[in-house]
Amino acid sequence: MGTKAVEILGVDAGKLIEMLNKALADEWLAYYQYWIGAAVVQGPMRGAVAGELMEHAEEELGHAEMLVERILQLGGTPLLTPQDWYKMTNCGYEAPTDPYIAVILDQNVKGEQCAIETYKEMMAFTKDGDPVTYTMALEILADEIEHEEDLQAFVDDLETLKKRR
Ligand code: FE
Ligand code: FE
Ligand code: MG
Repeated sequence: MGTKAVEILGVDAGKLIEMLNKALADEWLAYYQYWIGAAVVQGPMRGAVAGELMEHAEEELGHAEMLVERILQLGGTPLLTPQDWYKMTNCGYEAPTDPYIAVILDQNVKGEQCAIETYKEMMAFTKDGDPVTYTMALEILADEIEHEEDLQAFVDDLETLKKRR
């Protein structure tokens, strides 16, 4: 823990650490949803979509790393067991039981939209009292916005394909 880092906090540390841990649960579930989705996805443009899903999986893992680093700086304990992912998650997990590409894309779009809400709330909570977490949340939010757009571009392409056939 960073003593001065905690001392300068202008927000409730316990509440903040809980928020960070909830986001950490989301990121791990998002990581696996993307990773396993990339493995099972079927349908048109499968190669391109699987590549994008895998890239997003890696980026979600990067977000998890950022969250853990901040939790430790604040003297918190990051979630230590996968059971906690389900207990703490904001955004949940959607299993790709139907591997059709449009279904998997929709599931992941929903996840990104929830992630966008989560980081927007984290920014609102920290904007006056914790510029470090605020800046981190902003950086992650920008990634989630990019993720949503990447997926929706594929959804649009699928629609075009349907109309033009
Ligand atoms: Fe993420
Ligand atoms: Fe994302
Ligand atoms: Mg992308």
